[in-house]
Amino acid sequence: MIRTKSFDNTDPILYLIATPIGNLSEISERALEVLRNVDFVAAEDTRNARSLLFHYGIKKDCISVREHNEVQASLSIISLLREGKKIAYMSDAGYPGISDPGYILVNKAIESGIKVSTISGSSAFLNALVSSGLPTNHFYFFGFVSPKEKEAIDQLTNLKEMKDTLIFYESPHRLFKTLRIMEKVFGNREIVIARELTKINEEYIRGKIKEIFDLEQEGLKGEMVVLVSGSLEEKVIDDETLKHRVGLLNKKGLSTKDAIEITSEEFSVNKNYIYDLVHKK
Ligand code: SAM
Repeated sequence: MIRTKSFDNTDPILYLIATPIGNLSEISERALEVLRNVDFVAAEDTRNARSLLFHYGIKKDCISVREHNEVQASLSIISLLREGKKIAYMSDAGYPGISDPGYILVNKAIESGIKVSTISGSSAFLNALVSSGLPTNHFYFFGFVSPKEKEAIDQLTNLKEMKDTLIFYESPHRLFKTLRIMEKVFGNREIVIARELTKINEEYIRGKIKEIFDLEQEGLKGEMVVLVSGSLEEKVIDDETLKHRVGLLNKKGLSTKDAIEITSEEFSVNKNYIYDLVHKK
């Protein structure tokens, strides 16, 4: 077990800064304060980072940490942190690590005993979800589906039975192709397209997938989040599936009692019902 306290100032710490997803006013005071105080800003795109910093009157040396050099660059950053340098990392927009580089850096930092702390800001999928009108109590963020049709079908098929609101990132030039695959896999579900969030052209388009096809001629430009309502179909779990699961857990060494308990939780089926099934001659 490893416990780290972010506000105990003695150890090196890597800050992750959430940056604006469009509207430059959407950055916190605290993010700016951290950016002013660090020695280096590590960034997905150092040119973007410099222009963002310039906008807030901050001048810093920037280090590039992007997808293709993330492992090597992460190790250099960890060395600098160990030497006592203060470093903040930002991706191009929103939260690092959310469909952006950042995970490897964070992972390597934690492995190396460096503390990590995130400075809050906007994330496109959270803004989109909260205003979508689709259920927010349970949601599943997927990010970008594969540009390859077969892979995209497989990915979406795996999500088909989920009852949670599904959230995707998509680029404008692939939108209608992806929507056609979604319609094929999910059926004609309710969806919301949240476009150009926090920018002057911010727009929400709510309707059934097939209705959105009417906009293909007009075309939809800009950055967008696609939210799809979760499955409304009740999943039918047959007795054989339940017995099979208990048997499988038994084989893995669990007692029948524990296997029944786990199966009951996994499938949300009453324990006594599974007990009777398993002990029925
Ligand atoms: N790290 C970012 C975050 O936390 O949201 C996401 C980066 S990902 C490379 C870029 C994708 O996020 C875009 O293709 C789009 O799907 C979504 N996105 C980013 N900014 C957006 C905006 N202002 N409005 C709608 N979607 C946006």
